[in-house]
Amino acid sequence: MELPCSFAPIIELPVMKKVKLFLKREDQLDAEITGNKFWKLFYPIKTVLDREGPKPLFYTFGGAYSNHVAAFSALGKRYGFSTHGIIRGEELAQSWHQNPTLRLAAENGMEFSFVSREVYREKAQIERLVKAFASSAVLIPEGGTSPLAVQGLQHMLSPDTQIFDYLCAPVGTGGTLAGLSKYAGPKQRVLGFKVVRDASLEKKIELLSGRSNFDLIEASEGGYGKMAPELIEFINRFSKQYSVPLDPIYTGKLMRKLFELIELDYFPEGSRILVIHTGGLQGIQGANDWLESKARPLIDLLPRAQILE
Ligand SMILES: *Cc1c(COP(=O)(O)O)cnc(C)c1O
Repeated sequence: MELPCSFAPIIELPVMKKVKLFLKREDQLDAEITGNKFWKLFYPIKTVLDREGPKPLFYTFGGAYSNHVAAFSALGKRYGFSTHGIIRGEELAQSWHQNPTLRLAAENGMEFSFVSREVYREKAQIERLVKAFASSAVLIPEGGTSPLAVQGLQHMLSPDTQIFDYLCAPVGTGGTLAGLSKYAGPKQRVLGFKVVRDASLEKKIELLSGRSNFDLIEASEGGYGKMAPELIEFINRFSKQYSVPLDPIYTGKLMRKLFELIELDYFPEGSRILVIHTGGLQGIQGANDWLESKARPLIDLLPRAQILE
C-alpha cells in the first residue's frame, strides 16, 4: 500500500470579505477512495498488509449510508483484500439493493451481515464472536479513530498548507481533527465543526493529538444526519456559485457555519482560512432518496466531470 503520488489540490473561493478562504479538495484525492477516510484507514490497513503470509479477512462496522463503509470496500478492491461489513439495520437484508452506498460496496466485493440496532450496539460482543470463529480476522472499528489512524492525517497536510492561519474540518468521531491538531504548524489554529452532539469529543481529541491548538464549534444543526431545508438550499447555492459539491452530513454543515462566522467577524481581518473538504459525496444519492420520499427539494448534482475534474 503506497501513498498517492500527489497532494489534493487547494483552490481559492472568492468570498469578497475581509478574509481569504481556501478549500483543500480531499474529495478529489482519488476517484473512489476519497477524503479523510483514506487517510484514517491508511496505517491500520497498511500495517496488516505489510505482514508476511496470506491476507486476512477484514471486518468493519457501519450504518447504511456510511462513507467509511464505502471507502473501506474501495480499498479492499484496490489492494486485493476481502472485506466484510457488519451493517446496522436487519431490514436491509431484503432492501440493500436499493441503497446506493451498499450497492457500491457490494460492487467492490464487500459481503454483509445485517444486524438489528440492539445487536449493533453490542459491538464488543460481535468482535469477540468474529475473533472466536476466525482468529486471523482483522476488525476495523466504525469511524476508525485510533492513534494509528490519526497518524495518516500527517499526509493530508503538505508544505503548501503551512501558510494558512486556520485549518477547518468537520468532526464526527474526532480522529481527523486530532490528526490536523497533531500535525499543524506551530502558529496554526485548528477549528473543528461538530456535526454530532458529543461532550466527550474535546478530551478525546486532546488525548489523541497531545495539543490544545484547536477549538470545537457546534454545527450539528439539530443532530447527526438532520437535514434542514435551509441546509439543502445553502448547499445548492454554494455548488452553483463555486462549482463545488458539498455533502449534507459533514461538509455542508461546516461550510454553512463557517460563512456565518465570517459574517460575524469571528476571524481577524486578513486571515487565511483553509477548509478541508473531507469528501462524503457518495452520500448525496442516499440523502436525495430520503428527501424525495419526504417530497422535499433535492441536492443538485453537479456534472460528474466537474466533481472529478
Ligand atoms: C467520517 C467523516 C468525517 C468525520 O471524521 P472523524 O475523523 O470521524 O471526525 C468528516 N467528513 C466526512 C465527509 C466524513 O465522511
